[in-house]
Amino acid sequence: MLHSKPREDNYLHKGLRKQLVQVLRDKGIKDEKVLAAIEAIPRHFFLDPAFERIAYEDRAFPITANQTISQPYTVAYQSQLLEIKKFDKVLEIGTGSAYQACVLAELGAMVYSIERQKALYDYVGQFFFIKNYPNIKRFYGDGFKGLPTYAPFDKVIVTAAAPYIPPALIEQLKPGGIAVIPVGDDNGQKMLRIIKDANGNVKEEELGDFIFVPMLEGKNK
Ligand code: SAH
Repeated sequence: MLHSKPREDNYLHKGLRKQLVQVLRDKGIKDEKVLAAIEAIPRHFFLDPAFERIAYEDRAFPITANQTISQPYTVAYQSQLLEIKKFDKVLEIGTGSAYQACVLAELGAMVYSIERQKALYDYVGQFFFIKNYPNIKRFYGDGFKGLPTYAPFDKVIVTAAAPYIPPALIEQLKPGGIAVIPVGDDNGQKMLRIIKDANGNVKEEELGDFIFVPMLEGKNK
């Protein structure tokens, strides 16, 4: 549950975040800036107060509209693959709870995030914490189309299971840019890292196995 009123972030929460960061280190996350962003962001703000403690376990959780807030490991893993630099323009598909968007914004990125579910898009607009990040711009739309008006982007991240690499997203990537996209079906996805070189040629790397909610065509009211 995303709340419109500020909530408390106390020593207990901060301690649980330190433990979570240690868990992520043990699972192989090495990027210190990513780990610092996870340590800085109160993940419990993104969940119902009933989940305060388990907010810092390394697991995904249901949010509203049958969607999930990604597992911290997944958020850290995708963020690390993106090699975010300050002021990078990043296109995110699947705003969801906006936790991933906040991690990218904490890393100094200019985040352009698209959500296809109107209810979820509106819901995040009410969330007090998102107001700390003027560098996040949110859009209600279909991520398969990207955001041609704002292209090109330094980085692209898809946080839903794509059935294939959406061509528009690769078109909207700058030469030298990186896209991180989980591609597969309901049974599971492979994380792909796609790098566009200075000449516009594309190279694809296949990484670990993940399970995301599906990336669906079109907008939903
Ligand atoms: N990044 C989110 C995880 C979201 S779960 C977080 O940190 O919480 C995936 C989200 O992708 C869902 O909210 C779903 O509605 C959205 N989604 C699925 N297909 C989409 C599409 N074509 N365009 C935009 N958003 C999409």
